[in-house]
Amino acid sequence: MRLTILGSGTCIPDATRLPSGYWLEVGEAQIRMDVGPGTVYATTRYPHLDWRAQTHQLLSHFHVDHIGDVATLMFAFKYGRKPTPRGPLTFVGPHGLTQHLERIAAALEPKLFQQEFAVEFLEVADGESHEVAEGVTLRALKVPHTPESLAYRVEEMTTGASLGYTGDTSPDLERLPAFVREVDVLIAECAHEHETSTPHLTIRDVQRLAEEAKPKRLITVHHFFDSTQANVAATLAAELPGVEVQAGHDGLVVEV
Ligand SMILES: [Zn+2]
Ligand SMILES: [Zn+2]
Repeated sequence: MRLTILGSGTCIPDATRLPSGYWLEVGEAQIRMDVGPGTVYATTRYPHLDWRAQTHQLLSHFHVDHIGDVATLMFAFKYGRKPTPRGPLTFVGPHGLTQHLERIAAALEPKLFQQEFAVEFLEVADGESHEVAEGVTLRALKVPHTPESLAYRVEEMTTGASLGYTGDTSPDLERLPAFVREVDVLIAECAHEHETSTPHLTIRDVQRLAEEAKPKRLITVHHFFDSTQANVAATLAAELPGVEVQAGHDGLVVEV
């Protein structure tokens, strides 16, 4: 399994961080997790990625910094597809996914999802598990952010590699640590340096999550603050012995 971070940022414009976008090469699957504005074009920055080969589009929730490039992606396929046969593209997301995507199509282009290959919508519920490709399992967990928000866990059976993605969430020490327990890589949102009233995690919340979940490697993303200035990686590493910690950045490639 290999992770490439296309966008580690938020809805706030930033010269070096695009909104949320993560690419996973795992088995026969090419999975994009979230598709924030700019992250479709960003795929072309990385020669090891082929945007046309995408098999799955995961959506964690319907905030624009996570879904803003849905239409961009479908227009790319409509006009930039090579005339070679390909399998379906499957959108995977929370309850309401189909209605949400149909509304995007109604607003922009009624035939948005009518492509020369099948485009499928798969709504996943809290606790559900799906084999999205041979030997590749995807699990979903409802997280407290918006009513629909999901976290995901991806596992590759042949290698035993595992990756967790919190999506956007506020603290949930009841269920989230068990869901991502002992993953090889945990991508955790770390929106705020200090306590706020917004439904997100602070550095301290991420520390508590990782203390319980014990991932091998922790990558913080979705910072609304300057993660370098705040020294987020060193702060967390000091509190999390045995966990490799780093602040995520666009272009980071990780072999899982
Ligand atoms: Zn959000
Ligand atoms: Zn967000």
